[in-house]
Amino acid sequence: MRFADIEMLRYDVRGFNNLSPQQRRYIYHLTEATLWGRDILWDQNCHINLPLRHLLEQLYLLYKGERQSKDFLAFQEYLRRMWFSNGIHHHYGMEKFEPAFSRDWFIETINECKLNISEELLEVIFNPDILAKRVNQAAGEDLLLTSAMNYYGPGVTQHMAESFYETQKAKGDIERPIMYGMNSRLELASDGQLSENVWRKGGMYGPIIEHIIEHLTYARNEAENDHQRQIIDLLVSFYQTGDLGTFDKYTIAWVENQEGEVDFINGFTEVYGDPLGLKASWEGYVNITDQEATRRTRTLSDNAQWFEDHSPVQNEYKKPVVKGVSARVVEAVMLGGDLYPSSAIGINLPNSNWVRQEHGSKSVTIGNLTRAYAHAAKGSGMRQEFVIDKETLNLLEKYDDALDDLHTDLHECLGHGSGQLRPGTDPDALKAYGSTIEEARADLFALYYLADPKLTELGLTPTADAYKAAYYSYMMNGLITQLVRIKPGSQIEEAHMRNRALIARWCMAHCNKAMQLVRRENKTYLSISDYDLLRQAVATLLREIQRIKSEGDLQAAQELVEQYAIQVDATLHSEVLERYERLRLAPYKGFINPVLKPILNSEGHLVDADIAYDEGYDEQMLRYSREYSV
Ligand code: ZN
Repeated sequence: MRFADIEMLRYDVRGFNNLSPQQRRYIYHLTEATLWGRDILWDQNCHINLPLRHLLEQLYLLYKGERQSKDFLAFQEYLRRMWFSNGIHHHYGMEKFEPAFSRDWFIETINECKLNISEELLEVIFNPDILAKRVNQAAGEDLLLTSAMNYYGPGVTQHMAESFYETQKAKGDIERPIMYGMNSRLELASDGQLSENVWRKGGMYGPIIEHIIEHLTYARNEAENDHQRQIIDLLVSFYQTGDLGTFDKYTIAWVENQEGEVDFINGFTEVYGDPLGLKASWEGYVNITDQEATRRTRTLSDNAQWFEDHSPVQNEYKKPVVKGVSARVVEAVMLGGDLYPSSAIGINLPNSNWVRQEHGSKSVTIGNLTRAYAHAAKGSGMRQEFVIDKETLNLLEKYDDALDDLHTDLHECLGHGSGQLRPGTDPDALKAYGSTIEEARADLFALYYLADPKLTELGLTPTADAYKAAYYSYMMNGLITQLVRIKPGSQIEEAHMRNRALIARWCMAHCNKAMQLVRRENKTYLSISDYDLLRQAVATLLREIQRIKSEGDLQAAQELVEQYAIQVDATLHSEVLERYERLRLAPYKGFINPVLKPILNSEGHLVDADIAYDEGYDEQMLRYSREYSV
């Protein structure tokens, strides 16, 4: 299914039918807890998202007019985009959607359906200046007052929030800091006092959290082992109290658990939606282990210390002992919150630095999502259009898919878990540049080792030359093809995209002998003439990025990001968009979830669950709004 810049894919769950009925019951309850968190995210993204969604869905269902009319089709597309982005802002670009239906048609239709709309909501839809951007990262502006996200109450400025949390941090445990501010909305009272409205049972999002707790409690009864039961108990206790110390305990129990075939994430997790990188969006997913592919990543984690010791990073910033780098290849069974419908394909958690350092981290590559992407990419024509010559194209056709999986494994299992901070460095010292630098660090670690003979020795790369495919496609993406995701006139905003631009452009600037952009028949191509030299540039940048992170060198981070990661060359951009346009592809993809159908006995008890892949996109979105909403 296609709409706007989106293509919807389905993913199948390999191995689901080989599980025991108890495992499937466990999964079933966990997926219910996953689906219940959706509306938390909608509200976090912007305060008007839920009332607006409710109204538009009503209109969509009640509308009796011509469903093929220009205005209705435009309205339908607006709603589908909103569903996809969990709100009115583009999930990647962060800018507010512009309606292609007319204001007059909309008001008339609202009246015909006997619905009401407030002046405020009407303005939100049709006035481009209101709530224009979900997350603003433009330097020099107050990032909170200019962002439409809902993590801070009206009137809370960037300065207020930063000093509020600096004061909290200074008072707390410096060695093992909790994730300050992670699970609350910071609000300003009329007397000028700041306070946190905490997301917990009895607090903000309380009614939704009660449903999540209910399903986690059912899941507990079906868990595979005691360790899983302990994890659920701690998570439930965190949801009941909002206590971040309990959250750390839960995180530690979760990261240390390696038993069982079923695992899940459920809660406040990633901080990309907050311009200050403190407040965590709600996400959830349930997965089962893919035993076969997990052997591949096990090999990497078994050799984690070797990789750490041999990296080009300064010795003092290497971990003397790399702990608990765990890696699994999983099959997603259900995606929720910030992982739905657009999902990451690799996940490395937890985000707390000291927990990672002392207890390790857990990494997954989501195999069935990768499969779905690869399947969709076949025959898209992208490579034929943008790769420089037949020889390079053959190289990519041969190795790029396999190497891409390996890149993700290296990034997630080793990259994020590598390195250490200098004692006393504030983990948040890089502020708004932190996410980009961290992603660059993990990607550089992966790129550096993709070219290492060690991987061939371990049997993970087919030939010593295969890495060239990965280098070419990575640099081509960072310099050229990822620009298709940017609107004309806009800059690069998203952390992963900034990271790719940073690496590719820095390497090109510092290693002009190895790679250049060249023009052939009025088209721009990437030419790489010396892969060895390019790898040396990767090593140099990795060393510098790790230094920046370890020392908390905010100024150097700012300079790198500002110089290489943000600007878009307008001429190249329009050329790329034109070439891309002709391929008629969707730059963004997302996933329709499977449906887990409960199998009940005559007393109405759950005995097993079935999986089906037949639900449509609109159908699924409307059902979620109906069934998982308070
Ligand atoms: Zn990452």
